[in-house]
Amino acid sequence: MNPSKRRTVIAGNWKMNFTPAEATAFINAIKPMVAGKDNCDIIFCAPYVTIAAAQAAAEGSNIKIGAENVHFAEKGAYTGEVSAQMLTACGVEYVIIGHSERRQYFGETDETVNLRTKAALAAGMKVILCLGEVKEQRLSGITDEVVAMQTKLDLAGISAEDLKNVIIAYEPVWAIGTGMVATPQSAQDAAQAFREHLRATFNEHVAQAVRVLYGGSVSSKNAVELITEPDVDGFLIGGAALDVDELTRVCTLTLATTSSHK
Ligand code: PEP
Repeated sequence: MNPSKRRTVIAGNWKMNFTPAEATAFINAIKPMVAGKDNCDIIFCAPYVTIAAAQAAAEGSNIKIGAENVHFAEKGAYTGEVSAQMLTACGVEYVIIGHSERRQYFGETDETVNLRTKAALAAGMKVILCLGEVKEQRLSGITDEVVAMQTKLDLAGISAEDLKNVIIAYEPVWAIGTGMVATPQSAQDAAQAFREHLRATFNEHVAQAVRVLYGGSVSSKNAVELITEPDVDGFLIGGAALDVDELTRVCTLTLATTSSHK
């Protein structure tokens, strides 16, 4: 059981998918399903050019539209980047930081993840901070050490107060987009390890309050057993967040389970 009644989060990461018209159609189609689901946070993180259309479609609903990245500088000579100030000026509240695809393909490091996180929080944004081990690290049995080090570095210098605006997404890299899912027990172990780190670094209240999501090939086939774990507070979803029918099944199953178990 989850004794602290943390609000469930279902966050979709659209990655480099959806034109503005496609995003509008998707939000319009999903809106009736999420109507009235006020006991959870439903967020879609969209490509920058799609955000405005998605926001317009989501208006009046409980859906929030976020971004998939943010730069750490306020402004300046950083061609192709977008700052937290620009995002907040566009009414964007949430941002994914440190997604494994940014780390893998775009040179993101724990240091830049930390800088981006601090910049987003300073601008008043809410951060979905992604971390998790790659396959070789898991096979070498060093998952716990890797995830503990990422947590320490990515959250360095962030206050207990600011952590209220951080959601941690544990995403084992080998599970992202592969159809291979972490066992519920290993998702739970990772979520529990984050809380232990937060307890040791901050305090019990922070450890109990921060939401920890699982991400990596979440689907309607595995959502119930994952969300049943006491320290898993929701999901960051890639592939299934592009498919209205599958996402509807995931949300319905997840929210039915959290309202009866947690
Ligand atoms: C993701 O992109 O964060 C993700 C978890 O993708 P998928 O659900 O497709 O594995």
